[in-house]
Amino acid sequence: MNGWEIIRGLGVTLGHFFDTYLEDIRWKGKRYRTKEGIEGRRNASVRGAFTIQYPEEKLPVWEEFRYLPFLVYDISAEGEREIRCTACGICSKVCPPQCIWITRKKDPETGRPITKPEVFAIDVDICMNCGFCAEFCPFDAIKMDHEYEIASRSRDGNIYQLEKLLKSKDYYHSIRPNNSSREEKEKLEKEAEKLKKSESTV
Ligand code: SF4
Ligand code: SF4
Repeated sequence: MNGWEIIRGLGVTLGHFFDTYLEDIRWKGKRYRTKEGIEGRRNASVRGAFTIQYPEEKLPVWEEFRYLPFLVYDISAEGEREIRCTACGICSKVCPPQCIWITRKKDPETGRPITKPEVFAIDVDICMNCGFCAEFCPFDAIKMDHEYEIASRSRDGNIYQLEKLLKSKDYYHSIRPNNSSREEKEKLEKEAEKLKKSESTV
């Protein structure tokens, strides 16, 4: 060892340093804070600085990126919010760190439980973003969000309640267009098959 490797390493750093200025000139000021600039710097063949100036710049996330879960609601023909969750409890059973709490609503007249959640809460300090809840939900009612900027100075409010967890079907489609289109298609196919079966038995 005669220090040659250290000199070689410093040479690589110096090369990146000068390449950064050359690339800045080549991009004519569009290398930073533009979508193309960010894409250019995350490319494997990038020259010069490849870092992202977060939080001013953010890397777009892939469709399958997952952070915290949220609950999907549809809008009925009357314009009412329809929560897909039936409070079946499967997600809370499969959740490895057991951070989902659910109780069912009760029919005000009979007092019997109905298929709607009264309480649906997730402790986001415990959630490990595994996505099991979304994988196992039989009603496509819980999905994994892309929102990751949730850091706060306090733990107060880190148990997300039903209202905070609710997001529209359109929002779900906007972050996961392929998944949501595939699920819609499967749902329509199932409904058509059901209809066909019921017609054939009449
Ligand atoms: S989110 Fe899905 S799995 Fe969880 S309770 Fe609701 S319907 Fe069941
Ligand atoms: S993502 Fe995983 S840890 Fe988080 S609530 Fe769902 S199942 Fe539990």
